[in-house]
Amino acid sequence: MPGPSPRPLARPHAEPDAFVAPPVGRKVGVLALQGAFREHAEVLDALGAHPIQLRNPGDLAAIDALVLPGGESTTMSLLLESSGLFPAVNDALAAGIPTLATCAGLILLAKMVRGGRPDQRSFGVLDVVVERNGYGRQIDSFETTLFVDGLGDEPFPAVFIRAPLIASTGADVTTLATVDDRAVLVRQGHILAATFHPELSGDLRLHQLFLGGS
Ligand code: GLN
Repeated sequence: MPGPSPRPLARPHAEPDAFVAPPVGRKVGVLALQGAFREHAEVLDALGAHPIQLRNPGDLAAIDALVLPGGESTTMSLLLESSGLFPAVNDALAAGIPTLATCAGLILLAKMVRGGRPDQRSFGVLDVVVERNGYGRQIDSFETTLFVDGLGDEPFPAVFIRAPLIASTGADVTTLATVDDRAVLVRQGHILAATFHPELSGDLRLHQLFLGGS
C-alpha cells in the first residue's frame, strides 16, 4: 500500500554533524527481549560489527554501542523491568553510549509518549513527543522512500509498521528525514532514531551511518 509521499529536505546534500559512533568491529549490544532484534544483528554482522544479544544486565558489560529494535514498546517495557535490564540500559544511555533506536525502540527513548499504556516506561532521553500508532489505521503499515540527510542522492527504502508518529522535536534534535513534513529519522547527540525499520529494507546505509561510515 503506498504511503505518504516523502519530501526532500531543504538541505538534502548537507553533511550531518559528526556522529559519535564506534568503528566497525566493535561490540554492538542489541536488546533481544522481543521484536526485530535478529534482523538488526544480521545487518550489523554483515557490516563487520559484532552484535551481542542483550537479555540480562551483565550482557551490557562489554558493549560499545546499543541498538533498540522495533516490536511492541509496551511488551518491551515490561520485559525491561522483569529482566532487570531497565536500570542497566538507563545507565548506559546516561553515559552517552552510541544508540540506534527503531520504531518501538524510539518510543522507549522518547521524553513524552502519547497513547502508551499507563504502566509503560520510557528512558526519556530523546527530546521528542511521540504518538504510538500515530499513522492511523488506513496506513498503519506502508513503504516509501526517503531522502536522508547524509546518505547522498540515493533514496532510502523505508518500511513503516504500526509506526509511531513524531509530533514534535526539541531544540537539540536534528531531523534527518521526513514524510509529509513529519520527522521520521532524528538524531540527538549519541542517539540516532527512526520511526521505520531500516533493518528490514535490505539497505545497510543507515546502520553504516550509525557505525561511523563504510
Ligand atoms: N506500535 C508499536 C509500539 O507501539 C511499534 C511498532 C513497531 O515497532 N514496528 O510499540
